[in-house]
Amino acid sequence: MALQATASRESVRAAAEREPEGEGEAPRRPAAFYSSVFAQIEEVGWERLMSSKGDGGVSCLVFRVLDDQGRNHLLEITLPMNYPSIPPSLVAVYPAGLAMLLSHFSCHQWNGNARYAIYLDVPYLPKLQWSKGSRLKDVVCQFQEHLKILQDYWSIMDDIDKVLWVVDPTKPTFAMSHRRIALGDDCYLLLHVNARKPRSLPECRFLGTDGKLDRLITNWRKYRKKWSADKKFHENLSTVLDFALPPPPSVNIEDDEQVDCGICYAKHLPIDDELGTHSGGTTDYTCENPSCSRAFHSVCLRDWLRAITTTRQSFDVLFGNCPYCSDPVAVKITDR
Ligand SMILES: [Zn+2]
Ligand SMILES: [Zn+2]
Repeated sequence: MALQATASRESVRAAAEREPEGEGEAPRRPAAFYSSVFAQIEEVGWERLMSSKGDGGVSCLVFRVLDDQGRNHLLEITLPMNYPSIPPSLVAVYPAGLAMLLSHFSCHQWNGNARYAIYLDVPYLPKLQWSKGSRLKDVVCQFQEHLKILQDYWSIMDDIDKVLWVVDPTKPTFAMSHRRIALGDDCYLLLHVNARKPRSLPECRFLGTDGKLDRLITNWRKYRKKWSADKKFHENLSTVLDFALPPPPSVNIEDDEQVDCGICYAKHLPIDDELGTHSGGTTDYTCENPSCSRAFHSVCLRDWLRAITTTRQSFDVLFGNCPYCSDPVAVKITDR
């Protein structure tokens, strides 16, 4: 099938060559800046560039980085005016976060805004090693190394989410290191796992009024030295509390039928005439990669794909990658 190319390289270059539109535009940088950044993007790979914006389209770049488990991570790199003398700033964004970033926020508003923590992708970022000769590929490499280090932390969080009765957060991102665990009888355990030392004793707070909490708190104080880096997290927890932790309740089938969209995080689309037959609809697209199987509203996926520079269009179909696993996805544009 002949693809109607909207190559990212061309679109970024076109943005860079465009004349500034007025006083509101950011100051232009020297031409050498743009050619240098193009060469640096080339080194990382144009196919990994998800979006670019800012002055000349290159002051804020989002790259896709896959980790060893095949999970997709999005790294937003902002280039300051004095780049490369001044190092770039980094934000790792969760896929749903990028959808928001592309639609509602400028890079400036996004950076350092803690309110959007639910859209962050890593619990902490690496300290960037930067010198004048450093390039974008060095940033991506350091981030990739960082993802390797975080695998152990993520496998521990996975273990908690699978084995324990987690009531909050219900949709944890890779960045969230706290979990509220139900202990039964309206008692809860608020866990905070140290992402830098995930195998160490977590921070723990007990919530509730039931009498059994006194016993658990006493056990925690008495046995916490038994916490061992070699044991599974949930085994450690039951040993230290001397308590059989309740498993997660079996999944409610009705709830399971209507899953949340991986982009807008809602089950139902809003009721809106502009959405045509999709108004109020549930998710109608599922990623075909069996180890991902994320569900989406095709409308959300379409908007997401439109915002991404690597998306290709052929006739009325958009071809791109799943925001979570990067496997190929395709949605119709004209579908109403
Ligand atoms: Zn959606
Ligand atoms: Zn997927």
